[in-house]
Amino acid sequence: MAHSTDRRNFMATTIQSVGLAAMGGLLWSGYTDSVKASPLVLRPPGALKEEDFLTACIKCGLCAEACVNRDTNIDRHTGKQREGTLQMAKGGDSVLIGTPFFVPTDVPCYMCEEIPCVPVCPSGALDMASLLNEKKELDINKATMGLAVIHKESCISFWGIQCDACYRACPLLDTAITLEYQKNDRTGKHAYLLPVVHDDVCTGCGLCEQACVTEKPAIFVLPNDVAKGKAGDHYVKGWDSKDQERVGKAEAKINTTDISKQDADDYLNEEIEY
Ligand code: SF4
Ligand code: SF4
Ligand code: SF4
Repeated sequence: MAHSTDRRNFMATTIQSVGLAAMGGLLWSGYTDSVKASPLVLRPPGALKEEDFLTACIKCGLCAEACVNRDTNIDRHTGKQREGTLQMAKGGDSVLIGTPFFVPTDVPCYMCEEIPCVPVCPSGALDMASLLNEKKELDINKATMGLAVIHKESCISFWGIQCDACYRACPLLDTAITLEYQKNDRTGKHAYLLPVVHDDVCTGCGLCEQACVTEKPAIFVLPNDVAKGKAGDHYVKGWDSKDQERVGKAEAKINTTDISKQDADDYLNEEIEY
């Protein structure tokens, strides 16, 4: 009798455990799905594309350990001093737990010349090869962590007030952000000096975002996939040699069919107005 009671208790406990485990699994997969879907996270320099990064990163924390900045910063959320840019995600961060990320308004990436966070990565989630320059040297200027975007309506330069805080904070001075003059038609006698971000140079370090003078930064870094649009392959720039090469290839392919060269040009330039 005692034996069958034990057995019933064992079965009940097992079923409960399996049920809880299944429920836990469901909850966990729901959690990972929701954070995987979160498109706004900024990763360390050299990080693979987000999907590949999440598969490759073994959550060891070595990158964050290696990232100790020359400046200490106060973390806005905890009020404590933070020495490094990279944080390992905890519950409530909206980032997959245990993976490294950074928030530029708290602590930006200081674009360390020797990039200590990358060579320590044992899994290849941070890819050194993507950061090599033409001389095969590690080069932080090759990083593509994100892209700075300006919200014109809250940037005071667009109101006609002189401000170049983001321009001066940018480590890629006068290349990632330039200042451009524009006539102020409202006053008729003043000029605007407007910051413009160049997406082929900006690394997404976020030093501009941290330096911005407005209450909520008017310039902020977004992941490249979110910040950048895509024109589509059939739009062609007449002045771009790569695009012309593409046109040549398309024409060569179409010439082997019964579609004419004019048709190929018409297709590639469809709906373009210059
Ligand atoms: S480049 Fe420097 S500041 Fe930026 S994440 Fe790596 S170690 Fe940290
Ligand atoms: S994120 Fe800002 S500071 Fe950093 S490179 Fe881009 S424009 Fe310059
Ligand atoms: S620091 Fe901010 S407000 Fe000033 S120019 Fe740059 S984006 Fe505009």
